[in-house]
Amino acid sequence: MLELLASIRDSPVTAAFGCAAIIPLAVWTIAVVGWMIMGEMDFLFGLVALIVAFLLGMVVMMPSQPVFAPIAFCGILLLMIVFPIVRRQLDRRALVAIEVEQIEGAYQMLSEKPDNASAMFKLAERLYYRGLVGHAIGIGELALAKMPQSMFPEENRAIQKWRHAAKNLTANQDLPCLVCGHRNGPAILYCESCGSNYLALYARGKWLGTTLAMRLVAAWVAAMVALVGLPMTVSSIKELPMVIALVVLQIGMAGLLLWRAFAYKGALA
Ligand SMILES: [Zn+2]
Repeated sequence: MLELLASIRDSPVTAAFGCAAIIPLAVWTIAVVGWMIMGEMDFLFGLVALIVAFLLGMVVMMPSQPVFAPIAFCGILLLMIVFPIVRRQLDRRALVAIEVEQIEGAYQMLSEKPDNASAMFKLAERLYYRGLVGHAIGIGELALAKMPQSMFPEENRAIQKWRHAAKNLTANQDLPCLVCGHRNGPAILYCESCGSNYLALYARGKWLGTTLAMRLVAAWVAAMVALVGLPMTVSSIKELPMVIALVVLQIGMAGLLLWRAFAYKGALA
């Protein structure tokens, strides 16, 4: 206790930074652990984000040189600016994940019973709400052809609404198959070239792939490594092999996150 008081007396600015950093770090830690448990954040991203936040907190409270305390504190402030954007992105991604599951479920039902019109219509509906209007109309019409019009007025009305919306769309909506690259037009359920359920693959890859949240977290980690981690390692550690090991570790970690966030094309988590 006396030691703590002495350190506050010796460096009141550092102590103030330390106090101010505790709440944002606690908020971030609780949120990231929650995202990891819910499977909303990639485990690797969550773990690195927690470690970097913890180390920044240590630097703010006990900087090897006073100059690093305000820099680390700015890093924590930056995290608080990024935080609501990351949270919004992850919430949206969780909703999209449910839609992707519905599309995969519809394909599952169709594989068991290929003329299941209601599964086909559900698939069309999900595609429509995700902006694939041409495919939605094409597959919706396939489904309607199997449904007596008098018994499914709602489905008929929905397709009329979609056709109306499609009038304003001129974009070519052919989708390339992720397995073979063949471009499939509307009203095609299975890739014409390889037979894959390319719409489900497209949904999982494109809609659940790398998100802005991953990119923000990766960029933040890289910035903290460059501004705090590397300068502190080089300036305060004397043993050369240790310096090299820590530099390689930090660059490797930041590089891996940047690669997963910006270059890796598959779906994460
Ligand atoms: Zn294909």
